[in-house]
Amino acid sequence: MTKWVYFFGAGKAEGDGSWRDLLGGKGAGLAEMTRIGLPVPAGFTISTECCDYFYKNGKKYPSDLKKQVIENVGKLERSTKKKLGDPKSPLLVSVRSGSARSMPGMMETILNLGLNDRSVQGLAQSTNNERFAYDAYRRFVQMYSTVVMEMSKEDLEHRLRAMKDRHGVKEDTAVPANGWKELIAEYKATFKEKTGKDFPDDPMEQLWGAIGAVFGSWMAEKAVTYRRVEKITGLLGTAVNVVQMVFGNTGDNSGTGVCFTRNPSDGAKEFYGDYLVNAQGEDVVAGIRTPMPLREMAKRLPKVYGQLEKVRVKLERHYREMQDMEFTVEDGTLYMLQTRTGKRTPSAAFRMAVDMANEKLITKEEAILRIKPEDIERLFYPVIDVKMDKKSLDSRIIASGINAVPGAAVGKVVFSAHDAEAWTAKGEKVVLVRKETSPEDVGGMAVAQGILTATGGKTSHAAVVARGWGKCCIVGAEKLNIDYKAKTMSAGGKTVKEGEWVTLDGGEGIVYSGEMQLVTPQLPSAYDTLMKWCDGIRRLGIRTNADTPQDSRKAREFGAEGIGLCRTEHMFFTDFEQPEKGQERQRAIQEMILADTREARVKALDKLLPFQRRDFVGIFKAMDGFPVTIRLIDPPLHEFVPHERAKQEELAKDLGISVEVVARRVEQLHEANPMLGHRGCRLAITYPEILEMQVRAIIEAGIECKKMGVKVLPEIMHPLVLDKKEFSILEEATRRVADGIIKQSGTKFDYLVGTMIELPRAAILANEIAEAAEFFSFGTNDLTQTTMGLSRDDAGRFLPDYVDEKKAGVFKADPFQTIDAKGVGALIRWGIEGGRKTRKKLKIGICGEHGGDAESVKFCHEVGMDYVSASPFRVPISRLAAAQAVVEEKAAAKSRRK
Ligand code: PEP
Ligand code: MG
Repeated sequence: MTKWVYFFGAGKAEGDGSWRDLLGGKGAGLAEMTRIGLPVPAGFTISTECCDYFYKNGKKYPSDLKKQVIENVGKLERSTKKKLGDPKSPLLVSVRSGSARSMPGMMETILNLGLNDRSVQGLAQSTNNERFAYDAYRRFVQMYSTVVMEMSKEDLEHRLRAMKDRHGVKEDTAVPANGWKELIAEYKATFKEKTGKDFPDDPMEQLWGAIGAVFGSWMAEKAVTYRRVEKITGLLGTAVNVVQMVFGNTGDNSGTGVCFTRNPSDGAKEFYGDYLVNAQGEDVVAGIRTPMPLREMAKRLPKVYGQLEKVRVKLERHYREMQDMEFTVEDGTLYMLQTRTGKRTPSAAFRMAVDMANEKLITKEEAILRIKPEDIERLFYPVIDVKMDKKSLDSRIIASGINAVPGAAVGKVVFSAHDAEAWTAKGEKVVLVRKETSPEDVGGMAVAQGILTATGGKTSHAAVVARGWGKCCIVGAEKLNIDYKAKTMSAGGKTVKEGEWVTLDGGEGIVYSGEMQLVTPQLPSAYDTLMKWCDGIRRLGIRTNADTPQDSRKAREFGAEGIGLCRTEHMFFTDFEQPEKGQERQRAIQEMILADTREARVKALDKLLPFQRRDFVGIFKAMDGFPVTIRLIDPPLHEFVPHERAKQEELAKDLGISVEVVARRVEQLHEANPMLGHRGCRLAITYPEILEMQVRAIIEAGIECKKMGVKVLPEIMHPLVLDKKEFSILEEATRRVADGIIKQSGTKFDYLVGTMIELPRAAILANEIAEAAEFFSFGTNDLTQTTMGLSRDDAGRFLPDYVDEKKAGVFKADPFQTIDAKGVGALIRWGIEGGRKTRKKLKIGICGEHGGDAESVKFCHEVGMDYVSASPFRVPISRLAAAQAVVEEKAAAKSRRK
């Protein structure tokens, strides 16, 4: 018999914190907290396997589930010494979702289950608080109606407001018991009207309805969207947690809160969170009331705060990770309702990882694994570049709120998630402004530059979701008057309309009018520390793809240890040091292409030579002491000549030839399939003088630098090679030119000659090519294109369908972004093996875009490459991924030994 239900209570649990996949994060956390002796109400968890069964069997439960649920309800009743539906002292339960990955607010929850017309009286008597008991009952009826029966939330909220008006009260806490009784009757009548059935009285019937609703919420559109946006795949489903209710709304000695063991915004080691007095369950997360910070709670409830502080220490030591906890205080008694690994900003992730390693809570290797590649990307948060004086800046303030997520954002104001998506699709930058956000808004939140809400605290939905994304967010801007109908927001006499620019300062929590300049700030010191740890353990070298001295210098700052790909053709059009010379370069290469004879080509190439040489000098200087791989011309020549008549006329005039000659030559260069045409090293086979000029520029620049004391290590690389014979022709030509120059210079000068491996044939025949080539660099952009038969320039149109699980789902990821380890990867493995069989110490790297993709970098480590090469801004990602590959490899070896 399969076990579907797992009990926890009174210090014992049928599972533990490592059972996340089976019990979901919440269930596993409750089991673990129970085991380590924290005050947790008793309950049971229906497993995620059950959810999986439910969806695989036409939404039917396994036959033995009923029996197991009944048994566990019995256990719960014995453990709590209360009974479901009891008219004297009833057991009430919450029914909550919880999958293996946190999906804040995406799935359903039902509280106070077990109340009916009889048991509510028992609750009123046992708590001696009729007002509270009927409030609990109406919350249950309201939640059950909307969640299980999908009745309109707005309608019920409207009836609630009308009742409060009738009784002349503003706050829920001021509603008398009679008010709640009236509302319950009204809700039940609406229930009957809408569903044709009486509101269920039997607690077991209520329980089954709630279980069904939680399982159903797994496939609700908002949950599916969240998983898509967050790239969450491979989960079985949600678990259902049925837990004894504890009440935070029994008076001023009660309350509910959410807290973090460290500050999730900046990572500081301080207790951080919100507390709402006299409130139940979801009030904090929903962000409807603005809570008080924990330090305030410490003053008001010092004893409970002391207990909570102890739980904080115990949980963080236990999990060795920052925890995000939910708790409730019922008449001065603390109960822990949830613990999970807390979401954090990227900057906080670095600080916490480094601090925890320094505190010896975790090892340095664990610290390295704590950082996600996306964290690095998001570390470069923009902030407002304040050029104007403080006074004029202050004059732009519209409102202030709680600084939930730092950074700054600039965009046009929109007031709905839908508009945020629609405007973004049109190419606009938007800031999403809401009274509060709810899970339905995630699509719009994901595309917005920043998020602003009028209510809520640091742990409200908007704050939690935005923090996970590292997205600028301000919440609780309470003075802001938002009018969804008029599409305006106003505060302090100022009004902002839809479409007007605002700037958010998430660090300070201030909303400004207008579009301000943003700048990227300094990295936190923990970043440098952690990256040094990465560099200390990684085996892969990290190089960069750079074509200019400027990019090379930038890449060095990011930690690159050389250039893995310098695309020389990028130098033909632009002069980064003397921009006014760009046109001259362009004309020289065009003259070369249009020339009829070798002599004419050489004459044109001679004009290009000084430019190339100057660029190489700059690059060698920037990479002093590090290797520089320079690839000779690669693209088809038609890319360098104009196709429009007017531009052809201009060119003809500049070169003193007729426009017909230009047009004819351009026509001749036309190819049906240029990517597989006259390109790559095929150009140097046909026009060896191009190779000669480029090699000359490299070697002359190298010798010049060497004389200046710069350490130069050039690696001359031929693109798109498909054969050893072809490569040997190029290699010999390269050496003839290079050695001639070196000999003439009278100095000693070392260089390597190697090849890109970017065609399947080259990978297959790598053992032969390695007889002549001193190094390989896998050009995985072309290798993916040619292996898969998918055009790298056109596949974008249909690849999304190939990646989309709901459509074809053929690939897990875009193969031009993350290496196709199975197919293209097999060729890479073959190529490496073949190459090293011939030349044991063959130097091997990768210079396709995959060199800056974390998953692909791990693949490169696994197959034994010497280095990866990434664009400058992605160098840190590669450094991190290369280190993580080592740590993960060690862990895998350790678990194999076990
Ligand atoms: C490649 O094909 O992977 C490569 C690096 O070369 P390019 O992108 O310039 O074709
Ligand atoms: Mg290529």
